[in-house]
Amino acid sequence: MGLRTFIESWPVYRQLTGDDPLGRGSASYSRTTKTLVPRTVTAEKVVKSICPYCAVGCGQNVYVQDGQVTQVEGDPDSPVSRGRLCPKGAATKQLVTGSGRQTRVLYRRPHGTDWEELDLDTAMDVIADRVLESRRAGWQDEVDGARTNRTLGFAHLGGATLDNEENYLIKKLFTAMGAVQIENQARI
Ligand code: SF4
Repeated sequence: MGLRTFIESWPVYRQLTGDDPLGRGSASYSRTTKTLVPRTVTAEKVVKSICPYCAVGCGQNVYVQDGQVTQVEGDPDSPVSRGRLCPKGAATKQLVTGSGRQTRVLYRRPHGTDWEELDLDTAMDVIADRVLESRRAGWQDEVDGARTNRTLGFAHLGGATLDNEENYLIKKLFTAMGAVQIENQARI
């Protein structure tokens, strides 16, 4: 690279001599910057979704390539968030691709110090058995002579991103099992 070319490549030179006197546009571009393209341009499709983290429910565009999530960004069409995501929501891709994500059931027995792997069917059976046992242990036919037919053996606390339909079904299920303590985190 000649001296003249070298000097002309300086951002301050381009700022003082070019059409970007404030140095906020083309004058600030390096050669590397000019070759960069957004990682979203090669996506095969964009799937609309909702951020899974909190009750705000910001809209997300999920970019997919070769069947893999390549980027998650704010959805400008969302009336809730209008394209914005907080730092947590902006890191949603890691929820799918992060190396720390658990894809198998891990179980730590009472008083155990290590995790052990369970197959999903076994884990579901353990949960079902404990629900039945807790329901039975906490069952009250009546309280102070008044018929109650309820259990205090368990409660349900929903997550913030459960939608109306999911909350409706959860309420139906737990009420049918006799629970009276049914709440949603979004209201707390
Ligand atoms: S982007 Fe942030 S504010 Fe929006 S739903 Fe996700 S966690 Fe909540």
